[in-house]
Amino acid sequence: MSIISGRDTPFEVTVPLLVIGGGACGLVAALAARDAGVDVVVVERDALPQGSTSMSLGALCASGSAEQRRHGVDDGADRFFDDVMAKTGGHADPLLARLVGARSGPTLDWLSQKHGVPLLLETGWKPAFGHSVMRMHVTPGRTGQDLMQRLLSACQAAGVDILTSAHVTDIHADGERVTGVRLGRPDGSVEDIGCQALILATCGFGGNAAMVRRFIPTMADAPYFGWEGNQGEGIAWGQALGAALADMDAYQGLGLLASPAAIDVNPRFLIEGGIQVNRLGARFAHELEDVSGAGARVIAQPDGLAWVIYDQRIHESCASLPQYVALREAGGVRQADGVAALAALAGIEPAGLSATLAQVATHIADGGVDAFGRRFTGPVLAPPYYAIRVTGALFHTQGGLVVDADARVQRASGGSLPNLFAGGGAARSIGGPGPSGYLPGAGLCMAVTLGRVAGDAAARLLAAT
Ligand SMILES: Cc1cc2nc3c(=O)[nH]c(=O)nc-3n(C[C@H](O)[C@H](O)[C@H](O)COP(=O)(O)OP(=O)(O)OC[C@H]3O[C@@H](n4cnc5c(N)ncnc54)[C@H](O)[C@@H]3O)c2cc1C
Repeated sequence: MSIISGRDTPFEVTVPLLVIGGGACGLVAALAARDAGVDVVVVERDALPQGSTSMSLGALCASGSAEQRRHGVDDGADRFFDDVMAKTGGHADPLLARLVGARSGPTLDWLSQKHGVPLLLETGWKPAFGHSVMRMHVTPGRTGQDLMQRLLSACQAAGVDILTSAHVTDIHADGERVTGVRLGRPDGSVEDIGCQALILATCGFGGNAAMVRRFIPTMADAPYFGWEGNQGEGIAWGQALGAALADMDAYQGLGLLASPAAIDVNPRFLIEGGIQVNRLGARFAHELEDVSGAGARVIAQPDGLAWVIYDQRIHESCASLPQYVALREAGGVRQADGVAALAALAGIEPAGLSATLAQVATHIADGGVDAFGRRFTGPVLAPPYYAIRVTGALFHTQGGLVVDADARVQRASGGSLPNLFAGGGAARSIGGPGPSGYLPGAGLCMAVTLGRVAGDAAARLLAAT
């Protein structure tokens, strides 16, 4: 993983625009560039493009979308900006927060209307975790895999070339100007492809244990539940070319990884009134405050485990969520008619669970706020009860290359690198430092929004040169 420096490198093939990484960011960037008439090649290390995008719940936040307007949701760039700044205590990059607030909704509309990737408002995701309005959008299949399949179909229809089983190992550069990439094939052969501009859509560094230990030491021993191929190479190349990095300790953790089934549990179980307890039956946090910091909090519980507790009403409301269907098939859901029976089935201290449910019922009855600051509004949980055993994990990293409003990678010494763009997990996100500024849906939001911004801007750069 290095920069190969040289002038006039003789490439067999040179294309105007190369995109490294075939996840949501790379595919959306390629679609935007194709719309502008640019010949673009996406280079993807895997035989089938999947990435963290395919592992995700496929729910992305966006503000000012046609779908929100259709549902009467009053949202826009200012409101999004305010939510981001409130969530991060003012530590998010204001330029990015404004950019994403203004461009995310229109990007979803463009994907839906121009490229046949419908992104519908997920009305089951009530405002929570820092979103002040409903702004989660999903494709009809409500999974990351469905989103990926639709993006791949859109790319095929638009004439985007995707080179698979092509692991980019090095970048060719003349000074700080990228001139091409070197890629390795599974049979050991090596190819060099020239380009006039490059978009880094290689996601973050969650799959690189050494980088996680260096930048996020608190999660160095946590399970990683993201795409293994995301090794932070794009970030390292950018830095080697002189780019600035920011918020490198930012990440999305989640305290909702079903154990041992390793299936991502949708936060809707909590949003709709469920709670999370530890082995002693005790709650340990405001479940709707910090979706990402919950990863470390769950790991800190006895045996590193927690249980999501909910009832029949919530079960029915979430019953058709694809991940929940899969979890039930995997035997990851416990159900019982009484609290003691559920506790015995799940392995939770019965007296503790009983006391906790009684406390929650009291909070609902008196309309008060609990010790963690949560105000329960829903109906009291009623039998039959359900439990899902979960653990915490690192899902993806959120720090990365500093980009401007055109997704151009910024030098540490100031100004833009001449022909390098980045988006998605390769770029710094809008969560500020650490885990707690992460807004649900921001990972995919940054991937598609910055992907489009990068594709548009790269096309303009190519047209001007
Ligand atoms: C379990 C899980 C659930 C999640 N749920 C959500 C959610 O519901 N909502 C949300 O907003 N976010 C969610 N996220 C985060 C979200 O998935 C990511 O933020 C988003 O997918 C990033 O998109 P990307 O295109 O940057 O990266 P990816 O989709 O990971 O794509 C990067 C691609 O680059 C390729 N690549 C990397 N290095 C190279 C190289 N050197 N050469 C060639 N190819 C390379 C990889 O193989 C990969 O295909 C979740 C993440 C996980 C792990």
